[in-house]
Amino acid sequence: MAGRFAPSPTSDLHLGNLRTALLAWLMARSTRRQFHLRVEDLDQARVAAAPGVAAAQLADLVALGITWDGPVLRQSDRFDIYADYAARLDTYECFCTRAEIAAAAQAPHGNYRPYPGTCAHLTSAQRSARRAEGRPPAIRVRASSAETTIWDAHAGWVSGVVDDFVLLRGDGTPAYNLAVVVDDGLTGVDQVVRGADLLSSAPRQAWLAGQLGLPVPEYAHVGLAVNQQGDRLAKRDGAVTMAQLTAKGTNVLGVITDSLGWPRVGSAAELLDAVDQAPLLDHPQVWDPWVVAP
Ligand SMILES: [Zn+2]
Repeated sequence: MAGRFAPSPTSDLHLGNLRTALLAWLMARSTRRQFHLRVEDLDQARVAAAPGVAAAQLADLVALGITWDGPVLRQSDRFDIYADYAARLDTYECFCTRAEIAAAAQAPHGNYRPYPGTCAHLTSAQRSARRAEGRPPAIRVRASSAETTIWDAHAGWVSGVVDDFVLLRGDGTPAYNLAVVVDDGLTGVDQVVRGADLLSSAPRQAWLAGQLGLPVPEYAHVGLAVNQQGDRLAKRDGAVTMAQLTAKGTNVLGVITDSLGWPRVGSAAELLDAVDQAPLLDHPQVWDPWVVAP
């Protein structure tokens, strides 16, 4: 049994990321689970454009007092594993461009546009014609609008219709949904604590886990950090990273515990002692958006 934190090493962790990491760590440790750290570096062009970020992220987590078990998993080392799992599924080639999908799809659900199934039943002649255009196809799973329901510790039962989402991109890069499900399933992660923006992808991921014979984890989607306009916190919102805040003399752990309505403590380990004695995770601040003042 394990929990995990899985940052993308494309920009420094900000207060919201650090708070989610702390909550995931607390929920894992307070339920006697292991805790795994995973670097989600699938998009190698974006990672290459941000050198040193992965190491800085790990250093920030250490500075916050977060500990983890076993080696840090890097998704870029695991492309063969994801391709092997993708090959176990009923899939088809999709030749659509982004513009074609946008033109054919229904309205986006949040920032996600369900795939309308354009390529689900192409004839071999149609496939040959599109292949001759030269752009390599993405591989999509045939989900046939399966409906699935997950349990979230705060939101309760959440249902979703699963579209034929991408497993492998045209350039062979595994898609996020595939990698996350395979990694969680193979590393014993049975507790997924992450930002509320990912709640809508949980049914899709739980369905995929079931298709692959992997266990479905329990989910807890916690409140996101937002700026005063209600938008997700970003670097342009001022001093929001560990390095920036520490340089200003800010006690980052204190800012996070204040935001949760928890007492100020000297270290994350002390916080864990407090969680063991009281149901601190029952506090509504864990789940509500956290408005970060500049
Ligand atoms: Zn298509």
